[in-house]
Amino acid sequence: MGKNTRADTRQDKWDSVRKELQQTLGQNNFVTWIEPLSYGGLSGDVLRFGVPTRFLGDWVSRNFADRILREFEKQGVEAGRIEFSVRRPAQTATATDSAKGAQPKGQTVNGAAVNGRATQGDSDLPTAPLDGRFTFENFVVGKPNELAHAAARRVAEGGTVTFNPLFLYGGVGLGKTHLMHAIAIELSECRPDLRVLYLSAEQFMYRFIQALRDKQMMGFKELFRSVDVLMVDDVQFIAGKDSTQDEFFHTFNALVDQGKQIVISADRAPGEIKDLEERIRSRLQCGLVVDLHPTDYELRLGVLQQKSARFASQYGDIPVAGGVLEFLAHKISTNVRVLEGALTRLYAFASLVGRPIDMDLAQDCLADILRASERRVTVEEIQRKVAEHYNIRLSDLIGPKRVRTIARPRQIAMFLSKELTTRSLPEIGRRFGGRDHTTIIHGVRKVEELRASDPQFAEDVDLLRRLLAR
Ligand code: ADP
Ligand code: MG
Repeated sequence: MGKNTRADTRQDKWDSVRKELQQTLGQNNFVTWIEPLSYGGLSGDVLRFGVPTRFLGDWVSRNFADRILREFEKQGVEAGRIEFSVRRPAQTATATDSAKGAQPKGQTVNGAAVNGRATQGDSDLPTAPLDGRFTFENFVVGKPNELAHAAARRVAEGGTVTFNPLFLYGGVGLGKTHLMHAIAIELSECRPDLRVLYLSAEQFMYRFIQALRDKQMMGFKELFRSVDVLMVDDVQFIAGKDSTQDEFFHTFNALVDQGKQIVISADRAPGEIKDLEERIRSRLQCGLVVDLHPTDYELRLGVLQQKSARFASQYGDIPVAGGVLEFLAHKISTNVRVLEGALTRLYAFASLVGRPIDMDLAQDCLADILRASERRVTVEEIQRKVAEHYNIRLSDLIGPKRVRTIARPRQIAMFLSKELTTRSLPEIGRRFGGRDHTTIIHGVRKVEELRASDPQFAEDVDLLRRLLAR
């Protein structure tokens, strides 16, 4: 194959290949992976390219080498393989490189990170602002969140990575963001040597799009691959956003391969996030998946006591009558955020009007929150609980499968939705994968029949009802 010699080092073959690749790989891939390559010609049967970083070379080699070889072949250049060598810094300094302190290339990404930290702290990391109140100290631990808390604590020790990623999920206001901030705060105190990057999935996407637009993908990639701990909050946000998902996936893999810790949060389990690519879903499930359960009475009371101790020092001596916190913990069962909001309002109101915090004040000033908490069970919660109870997937419960083991729990969920919520039958139908209201009626009747004839079944349904209505 050594017959293609000198003539093939001509730039025009490469130019033609590039044009083809631009067509077949798409603009994003092209700009990110192909454009940075500099063609170094053919020697023997080896095509040589210069690359700005080892990472880029590895990536192109793994993903695009065959494609490049094939395109060269079409141009009459037969090569057996491709070799990438890292160009010297002088050739590669780009805007993003200099923003990062122009680390000499050819070093590992890690080395660059260490240097960057020593000289400029972590100021180059686009970490979202941390809320100083979201510490472990301020996090009240109860049954519903104890596993999530323990896992977060473990990550915050910054030791060897034992599970990757840590995937925290749960409904809104249950403390996911609080725990992630707590990890970041703890690490910054105890392990200042680690590069910790916390941001929301939305910010990740924003940065990604910005990097694409400004043609700074290399900088973006290097930045995200240079951290020791990456935390991405509310990852459900990138579902359905294909190129962002793609980028996230690559970042994710690169970090996992380097043994770096990743922490992810979402409002639901990986398996329940719609429009999430299967490969991402399965990677997310590889680590430790922990859910923050809805609060229970003890946790709510604990949170109220802790916050009220803090408010007390903030607002001066406002007495809290016995039973008020218990009343609130009992009544407001949605989430911690609402609980907090209620207490804040209570203190603010009491201090304004100069009244003690007692039941009357609570009733007066929290009427709306208390009323909203009355109809607290949602169809979604019912579905979740029923799926959990029968150990089936939420997606199956809502989906089209007709096997008894799934159809029966589905009918129970329909029945409970009718009983425990104020939703109309068509509304319930919509929440069950767009089913017709007659299907819901049928399900409800079926459950009524079975309850009448099968005591075991009746007991099961009642148990679920009690769990939901509390
Ligand atoms: P999420 O991210 O799950 O929607 P957040 O972490 O933002 O919820 O929590 C909402 C609010 O409730 C925050 O102010 C947070 O400090 C508080 N919070 C949640 N869980 C707890 C807890 N276990 N102890 C103390 N505060 C909590
Ligand atoms: Mg959050």
